Amino acid sequence: MNEHDSERIAGLLLADGLEPASGVEDADVVVFNTCCIRENADDKLYGHLGALKPMRRARPDMQIAVAGCLAQKDRELVLRRAPHVDVVLGTHNIGSTVELLRRARETGPVVEVLDHPSLESDELPSALPVQRRSPYSAWVTIQQGCDNACAFCIVPAVRGPEVSRPLDAIVAEVEALAASGVVEVTLLGQNVNSYGRLGATQPRPRFAELLRAVGSVDGMRRVRFTSPHPKDLRPEVLDAMAEVPAVCEHLHLPLQAGSDRILAAMHRGYRAERYLEKLRAARERIPDLAVTTDLIVGFPGETEVDFTATLEVVAEAEYDSAYTFVFSPRPGTEAAAMTDRFVDADVVAERFARLEAVLERAGLRRHQARVGRTEEVLVEGPSRKDPTVLTGRTRQNKLVHFPDPSGTLGPGSWSWVEVTGAAPHHLSGRPAAAPRRRLIPVTVVTGS
Ligand code: SF4
Repeated sequence: MNEHDSERIAGLLLADGLEPASGVEDADVVVFNTCCIRENADDKLYGHLGALKPMRRARPDMQIAVAGCLAQKDRELVLRRAPHVDVVLGTHNIGSTVELLRRARETGPVVEVLDHPSLESDELPSALPVQRRSPYSAWVTIQQGCDNACAFCIVPAVRGPEVSRPLDAIVAEVEALAASGVVEVTLLGQNVNSYGRLGATQPRPRFAELLRAVGSVDGMRRVRFTSPHPKDLRPEVLDAMAEVPAVCEHLHLPLQAGSDRILAAMHRGYRAERYLEKLRAARERIPDLAVTTDLIVGFPGETEVDFTATLEVVAEAEYDSAYTFVFSPRPGTEAAAMTDRFVDADVVAERFARLEAVLERAGLRRHQARVGRTEEVLVEGPSRKDPTVLTGRTRQNKLVHFPDPSGTLGPGSWSWVEVTGAAPHHLSGRPAAAPRRRLIPVTVVTGS
C-alpha cells in the first residue's frame, strides 16, 4: 500500500514539473513515505531526517516532506523532533502533496493530516497521477482503511475506517492499465474480501464480483490481490478464483497465531480449526493453489503451549512461504498496553527460529514438488544476485531464476520455464516449449 502511495506521490510531483533526481544530494524535494507497522520505522525516519539536516541548512531551497503512516501517527511531533522538515502529510492527504509544498514555501512548515479518507475528493490514491515502477505490472487500490480491531495493529489508527472504491472506477482503471500494456494487476486493500461494505455504490458490490469483473478485462492476464481476512473468506471468492482464468492460484491468508487463546486476545475473529477448514476448502476448490501467510511470534501472554499450537497449525497448513514477525508493540494499540504479559526477548528469538525452520522445510517441500513441471513465467528482469540469469514469477507468485540464451527476454515478457531446481524461497529452471494441450476424444452419439 505504501509503495503504491509512493508511486502516486512521484506521479503528482512529475505532473507538477519536477524530474527524478539522481540522489538526495541534488534533489530539490525529498519525500519520506513512511510505514509504521513495525517499531524500527520511527528510528529509521528520524535517523534519515537527522542525516539530511546539514544538507538542508546548506541549501535553504531544498524541501523535505514526511508522508505515510508515521506522519499520520506523529503529526506535529515530526516537526518537534525534526524542525527542518517542511511538510507533514497524512495517509489521506497524498492528493495535496504539491499544494502543501507550495504553501510551505510561502508560509513555513505545514502539518496536514486528515483522519478519514474522502471518496468525493481525490484523496484515494488511485485517482491521482502515478509514476509506476513497472510498465507491465500495477497495483490498484480497491479499498482503504480497516474496520477490524486486531489488538497488535496500528493500521485502523493511521489508515482510518474502511472505504471501498466503486466497482466501475476500479474496472475503468484496470481497462486503462490493460490498454497501456499492463498485463498483471494486484488489487490492494487492508481486508479485500470485505470489499464493498462502505462507501461504494449501491447495490453493494462484493469482492467476488469485483474479481470476476477485473478478471474479464481484455489483455489482463494475471489478477492478484492482497490481503484477504480469513474470517471474511467466502465460498463465492473461491469460486471466482477457480473459475476466472486470469485470477492467479495464490492466496495470502494471514494466520497470525495458531492458539485459539491468542487469536481471541488478538481479536482475529476465527479459531484455528475454522481457519484450517477454510484453507482446505480453498485447496479443494482451486487446483495447484499456493498459500502464504503472516505470523506473529511473542504476542503478549504467548506461552509455550500457545506457540506449540501455532507450530501445529503451520505444520498442517504446509505453507508455500510466510512473513514472520516478532511482536512489536505499536503505541496506542491494545497489545502495547499489555506490558505485564510481554514475552522475554530470548524466548521469542528461540521460538522464532523454530518457526522459521518449520516454514523453510515446508517451503522446500512445496517447491520440490514443482520440479519437472513447466510453468508460465512473467519476466521481471535480471536477477539482483546474478545478472546472467533472469528472474520472473509463476502464477503461484513463485520466484524463478532461469537463463535466457536467446537474450531476447526483457521485463514484462513471457516465457515457459521447466523447473529444474528448488530452494526454500525460489525455483530455478530453463526455458522450455509451452506444454502441449491434451485433447480428450469425445464421441457424440445422436439419435432418438
Ligand atoms: S485486519 Fe489487518 S489491517 Fe485490519 S486491524 Fe487486523 S491486521 Fe490490521
